[in-house]
Amino acid sequence: MNTIQHWIDGSAVPGTDTAAVFDPATGQEQARVALGGPEVVNTAVTAAERAFETWSESSLSQRTQVMFAFRQLLVEHEEELGRIISAEHGKTVADARGEITRGREVVEFACGLGDVLKGSFSDQVSRDVDVHNFRQPLGVVAGITPFNFPAMVPLWMHPIAIATGNTFVLKPSERDPSAANFVAGLYQKAGLPDGVFNVVHGGKDAVDAILAHPGIAAVSFVGSTPIAKYVHEQATSRGKRVQALGGAKNHAVVLPDADLEFAANHITAGAYGSAGERCMAVSVAVAVGDAADGLVEVLARKAREVKVGPGHVPGVEMGPLITKVAQERVENAVGIAAAQGATVVVDGRGLKIEGHEEGFFTGPSLLDHVTAEMDAYRDELFGPVLAIVRVDTLDEAIAVINANPYGNGTALFTASGEAARRFQRKVTVGMIGVNVPVPVPMSYYSFGGWKDSLVGDSPIHGPEGIRFYTRPKVVTTRWPRPAQQVAAGFNFPTSS
Ligand code: NAD
Repeated sequence: MNTIQHWIDGSAVPGTDTAAVFDPATGQEQARVALGGPEVVNTAVTAAERAFETWSESSLSQRTQVMFAFRQLLVEHEEELGRIISAEHGKTVADARGEITRGREVVEFACGLGDVLKGSFSDQVSRDVDVHNFRQPLGVVAGITPFNFPAMVPLWMHPIAIATGNTFVLKPSERDPSAANFVAGLYQKAGLPDGVFNVVHGGKDAVDAILAHPGIAAVSFVGSTPIAKYVHEQATSRGKRVQALGGAKNHAVVLPDADLEFAANHITAGAYGSAGERCMAVSVAVAVGDAADGLVEVLARKAREVKVGPGHVPGVEMGPLITKVAQERVENAVGIAAAQGATVVVDGRGLKIEGHEEGFFTGPSLLDHVTAEMDAYRDELFGPVLAIVRVDTLDEAIAVINANPYGNGTALFTASGEAARRFQRKVTVGMIGVNVPVPVPMSYYSFGGWKDSLVGDSPIHGPEGIRFYTRPKVVTTRWPRPAQQVAAGFNFPTSS
């Protein structure tokens, strides 16, 4: 059986311990993945430190040329990488291609680094004195990423880190590790020097080794909130810079003036796309006033129409969940919701796909009359379950969203500009859609939630990414004319 190995200093490096990688559509083990610990992490950091010496001295144009070549390779290999992702994650190939496209946009942002990295210059701030500033890379930086976007989430990190002159150690999810190695191969083809991009596979041991390693200057983490808190605490206590993005519970509010068919179409796609395994998935629809009955009726019809099957089969809209544990967790949650008083309008439990009876499938579920006290509302289920909460007014809907501990994404469906403006100004959420269900910002903005969806204060990619992976210097310069005398005062210097 194939073992997916670490990638360090431009070559595959075997590991001794391994874990199973499943095909979620069949439920069968399809490969093994190496599990790294302190020794492998140290090997990777040593290679990255060596590579940093030359990479950080390379010119801006050399670095962006690699990004242009890498971007082209991502275009040419999109289908192949999409299939690799689908085979381990379970999402459809078309959906996987979508995540590659959105990740590639960060590479495009990095291609334009010459413009965004420019410093500023102030002439004659004092007599014969000028000031300018510039930013420099941090050194070796690490990324720890979740299973649900094995290409896109790492792409939020490494193009910006590398283009700004850092070297990178990626610790991808052990559940779908192959995309990371494929991307490493593309970087090598693009001309990236060995040691600049490295992959260490594994789970908690690898993460702990990264958090403890003194050679790593910064850690980017995306995953569940408890681990984001752990990573933030451990890494900052060791003096590292950290960005840590956590979990989510995203609400889509539907006002009575919205086009219900339009809203239901988009909410269905946002709730069940990628089997609900997106940090921006719509997991709660908040139906306001008269919108509720009509909305539930259309949502139920659409949920029943979702085509579920293996991700590589053309026409399939929703694949299996990532693991058997996830499948059981989601199906149990539907049962608990019913026991707590929710109405199960569409029940996705027990779905069997012919020829794939052992696959980790569950069908779309729709729960009505869900309240804030129920587990199905409080927990991030990370599966194809949409909960309907009914309220009377927009202000009540906003209060529901603001009382939720998460604040990643939210959407409002309405025909009213006034309502949309009030909504976006009042919600305690970082990314907001108006008649857009999954408002993932473009790469030249930054991505990040509020409250428990982001631990610390650093969103990811875009301008925040540049800031995160570099540190500033401010230079004050005087070039006196020959023989010019400038009085040196003992008082604190002021401009004159
Ligand atoms: P996870 O937190 O289980 O794992 C994320 C990473 O942490 C993986 O690399 C994993 O190996 C590592 N890890 C897991 N347990 C650990 C432990 N005890 N100690 C140290 N490291 C550990 O998340 P997941 O299940 O892979 O991904 C789903 C979660 O990620 C969801 O909560 C989802 O909302 C979140 N997510 C958030 C965003 C965002 O932008 N906010 C984006 C994608 C996913």
